[in-house]
Amino acid sequence: MDEKFIIKKYFMPLANGKDSLQLKDDVANIDVADEKYIVSNQDSLVMGTHFFKSDDPAYIAKKSLRVNISDLISKGVRPYGYFLSIAMDDTIDENWIKLFSKGLAEDQKKYNLTLLGGDTVLAPNGLFITINMLSRTNDTIIKRSSASCGDNIYVTGTIGNSAIGLYLLKNKNDNLGLDSKDRQNLIRKYHLPNPRLQTIQLIKNFASSSMDTTDGLINDLLVLAGTSGRVFTIKKRSIPYSVSTKKFLNSYGDCDIALYGGDDYEVIFTSPMKFEDMLNEYAKKIKLRITKIGKVGNLSNHPRIYDEKHEEFKTSNYSFKHFK
Ligand code: ADP
Ligand code: MG
Repeated sequence: MDEKFIIKKYFMPLANGKDSLQLKDDVANIDVADEKYIVSNQDSLVMGTHFFKSDDPAYIAKKSLRVNISDLISKGVRPYGYFLSIAMDDTIDENWIKLFSKGLAEDQKKYNLTLLGGDTVLAPNGLFITINMLSRTNDTIIKRSSASCGDNIYVTGTIGNSAIGLYLLKNKNDNLGLDSKDRQNLIRKYHLPNPRLQTIQLIKNFASSSMDTTDGLINDLLVLAGTSGRVFTIKKRSIPYSVSTKKFLNSYGDCDIALYGGDDYEVIFTSPMKFEDMLNEYAKKIKLRITKIGKVGNLSNHPRIYDEKHEEFKTSNYSFKHFK
């Protein structure tokens, strides 16, 4: 199975827009039409760090796309196409590639994306996937740095599901008050984040600053507060959990796993108070769950987050770092 064969059989059918030149040339030639900006980001997934060899290749494909999609959504822009680089050892067989490309095809449809190009190379050991995602837009992006004093702070969806899903995979014998449906829900959230395209317009219309949550809600709020140079107050009691997560937390007894555990891929954003009613109405219309969890405070040389009792949120053991 050489790489020309893989590219032709599995990747060419995914390169269905004209910009890819059907992967027959050295480059992609991207038509920006009359858009002003290319907004782009890149994320890598590594076997052993971000997924396991035994995971479903279609899930790995979708997760690789969705972690990138999530970044663009949080900036209020619509993803357009992507480059895909795969480095793999010779234990990865054709059936793996087949399932992987099927996962890509399904998400290309779901998110209206096209494959633009990439690279396929041999690695001595392991499997590495890098995706570079592009968006073409006339709009300026919603930055992390532009929260203002008095803005409300929101989060989409619910948090903690994915970190608990991972915990359940690692501790198969812990029951913790969950039935098999709860377990399935939570584990599925770990395998497959669910960024939503309808969030884009909401962010574009109403957000003053925004980012997606990948490293745990509190850690990411701290980043947002830090980039905006402000103090945030977060109401612990308003933080939204799913029914399954609530059950888990009740018997587990420690919320830190949900507050600091990663891989939520929700969006945290700030929004001026004057938009509150319109924002709620819009979210209702597009059936997107958003929850007001706090308020942006004053500028500070030492940005931090307080809870409603004015206690500072501490960094926690659950925070994940690649390099310690
Ligand atoms: P080169 O020797 O110039 O690197 P390749 O044989 O690697 O050429 O690639 C040929 C074409 O196939 C290029 O257009 C490249 O973008 C595309 N390609 C290679 N690997 C992938 C991949 N994993 N996904 C998408 N396109 C790919
Ligand atoms: Mg190449």
